[in-house]
Amino acid sequence: MSKYIFVTGGVVSSVGKGITVASIGTILKSRQVTVSVQKLDPYLNVDPGTMSPYQHGEVFVTQDGAETDLDLGNYERFIDISLSAESNVTSGQIYSAVIGKERRGDFLGGTIQVVPHVTGEIKERFRKLAQKSQAEAVIIEVGGTVGDIEGQPFLEAIRQMRNDVGRDNVLYIHVTFLPYLTSTQELKTKPTQHSVNELRRIGIQPDIIVCRSDYPISEGIRDKISLFCDVTRAAVIPLPTVDTIYEVPLVLEEEGLGQLVVDKLGLKARSTDLSQWRELARRIKEPLEPVNIALVGKYVELQDAYFSVREALCHAALSHDRCLNLIWVHSEDLEKDGGEALLGTAQGIIVPGGFGVRGIEGMVKAASYARHNEIPYLGLCLGMHIMVIEFARHVLKSSEPNSTEFYADTPYPVIDLLPEQKKVKSKGATMRLGDYPCKLTPGSRVARAYGRDMIYERHRHRYEFNNEFRTRLEEAGMVYSGLSPDGKLVEICELAGHPWMVSCQFHPEFNSRPSRPHPLFRDFIGAAKATLREGAQPSLPLSA
Ligand code: GLN
Repeated sequence: MSKYIFVTGGVVSSVGKGITVASIGTILKSRQVTVSVQKLDPYLNVDPGTMSPYQHGEVFVTQDGAETDLDLGNYERFIDISLSAESNVTSGQIYSAVIGKERRGDFLGGTIQVVPHVTGEIKERFRKLAQKSQAEAVIIEVGGTVGDIEGQPFLEAIRQMRNDVGRDNVLYIHVTFLPYLTSTQELKTKPTQHSVNELRRIGIQPDIIVCRSDYPISEGIRDKISLFCDVTRAAVIPLPTVDTIYEVPLVLEEEGLGQLVVDKLGLKARSTDLSQWRELARRIKEPLEPVNIALVGKYVELQDAYFSVREALCHAALSHDRCLNLIWVHSEDLEKDGGEALLGTAQGIIVPGGFGVRGIEGMVKAASYARHNEIPYLGLCLGMHIMVIEFARHVLKSSEPNSTEFYADTPYPVIDLLPEQKKVKSKGATMRLGDYPCKLTPGSRVARAYGRDMIYERHRHRYEFNNEFRTRLEEAGMVYSGLSPDGKLVEICELAGHPWMVSCQFHPEFNSRPSRPHPLFRDFIGAAKATLREGAQPSLPLSA
């Protein structure tokens, strides 16, 4: 039977609960305990797929095509596992399932209530994941902070689990924040005490408290939290802010969290080996030569909107012994006169995914700049549409080629909906989602990058390359190096005669891992590294 680790948050949000959960997974996996993870999101949307990135940050897509919270990306990267739809549960899913059952008559005669019906449905999701994954430890993160109205049914469900599966099989970890008062130069524990009181009020006594703080946490503070919150001193785990998120598993391990969890749950564990993580953290902190990459998008004010893209670029840069210097470029700024100056130092340009017409012309300008100045370009999903639009405008000598997403009546719809998509009216989960196979042209640049002829990558889009324009663009130098196995869908295109202009219809960023950079990102950074901008010096020693 799986053991359950429930992680709640207190005091404030955005203190890195997701990274903490991912790191707990890492330190358990390093002891060869099998783990799976689930994120509970208390909002009423069925999934974040219909939310603006400004509301929610990136939408992470699983192999089986679920649109999920970006924390799942961190779980996958840290634990190096592939999760599925069962790993993200929202209140929207829970309520629609309960109401669906009521309409079918499953509860005939009964009054449907939060307890036991809603909580029962939530617990069913815990069990489903445990059963499907067969993991020894299932880590479940409750989104939001204790005290949120929407979170109450989830907290009640995790409380009930203690009696359902036995107290030796569940563990409650509470992640809090210790604010620092400049006037008295001290960290305060009172908000933590209050949030633990709030948890106790609903019947949950945390076993472990992880304390986030921007300042070092003294022994006295640990003692105080131990006393007032009724946890052993060893179970108060300090987690001060660190230079890189990849250091968090190391800090938690150092503070004894791994052993504590294993002991409390009676998990069978081997001795831990985090050497790979130590090496990773060491290399990230090393002073490395930067590689300048411009990320051109329209949600750049909220960098979480591009979380996996940024991580994938970091992993790739590190594999080339470089540090990533990411230049965030708002695509609307490129639309202004002289906007191109923003790309002046970029050794590579990346245009990631996105929806809607705003900022599109700025992105087309970026692709044109990359093509004319031979700057490496990587287009992801929307970024591929942009590359195709820009090239078609050049080849057809017209400013009108476009995607019908942005200009429905264009005479040159180089990107268009497939006939089956044209009928679809509803917005939720109706895109081409999740893993699809793609055949690479043997001997092509991408086949060499992947070292394989068949790949599976995750998708999230409605619009596709319009085959009516395939030959015309091919004659002008566009190479279709990745196609769906039946040859009908263009999945990857490149530009002949350009040092590195490659775009894909899928989202490779979701498959990048810290120690296993994605081949497309790796080769993009490789090409960028070799690109010298005005005023830049080649790195020493100079080759003869
Ligand atoms: N908006 C485009 C589409 O729906 C691209 C989507 C994306 O970049 N994920 O096809």
